[in-house]
Amino acid sequence: MKLLAVPAFSDNYLWLLHDAHHAIVVDPGQAAPILECLQEHRLALQTILVTHHHADHVGGVAQLREATGARVVGPATERIPEPFEPLRQGDTVDALGLHFSVIDVPGHTAGHIAYYAECPDAAPLLFCGDTLFSGGCGRLFEGTPAQMLASLGRLAALPGDTRVCCAHEYTLANLRFARAVEPENAALQAYSAACEKLRAQDLPTLPSTIAKERAINPFLRSRERAVIASVLAHAPMTNPHDEVAVFAALREWKNTF
Ligand SMILES: [Zn+2]
Ligand SMILES: [Zn+2]
Repeated sequence: MKLLAVPAFSDNYLWLLHDAHHAIVVDPGQAAPILECLQEHRLALQTILVTHHHADHVGGVAQLREATGARVVGPATERIPEPFEPLRQGDTVDALGLHFSVIDVPGHTAGHIAYYAECPDAAPLLFCGDTLFSGGCGRLFEGTPAQMLASLGRLAALPGDTRVCCAHEYTLANLRFARAVEPENAALQAYSAACEKLRAQDLPTLPSTIAKERAINPFLRSRERAVIASVLAHAPMTNPHDEVAVFAALREWKNTF
């Protein structure tokens, strides 16, 4: 099974998984780069997985379905180009011989879902759209900080070697913020240097892993003493023991960083 990060727009990755015959694509905001990739590798598109309704994630769905007859699955409570199979927490999707579990991750949008699958000969896969980024998390357009904190907690609980396939190359900007929050985090320093090297060669920093994100991503670390201290120094608050308030202040700080 091969995993490709097909670049689109300025910083999106359209994740494509294939077994040399059939392919799955995740969040095709554009059809053209996927059609090219299918042609180049002589692949038949079997399934389109959608995480949420934003245009940069669904813009190419109709054209790809038209061109390939692929099945489309997506979040039950969001507007996805019809027809599609609606999915909810706990549902599974069988594709390319893998069983993807659906995880509800509201926050960035109200109905955002993620897809997780164990792979027979490789580390598990997570397609998390705009919920978890390497070193960061999605903006809260439709959900609350409490929802996003819980959603990220669900993803952080997955096995450490899970390959985290985020929908955007935001890593370097996220890591600049992460270093401002945790200037003493040695794992974060080392990871930043490695990612800067990759980007200098125009290579993706993704997929990341859950273990890596637990070690370096401030949004998965908002209960750590060092992160709480930084947030309090930036925005004093009356109740520093309120996990949601700390997380909300951290997200707010990033918005204006
Ligand atoms: Zn989005
Ligand atoms: Zn996006």
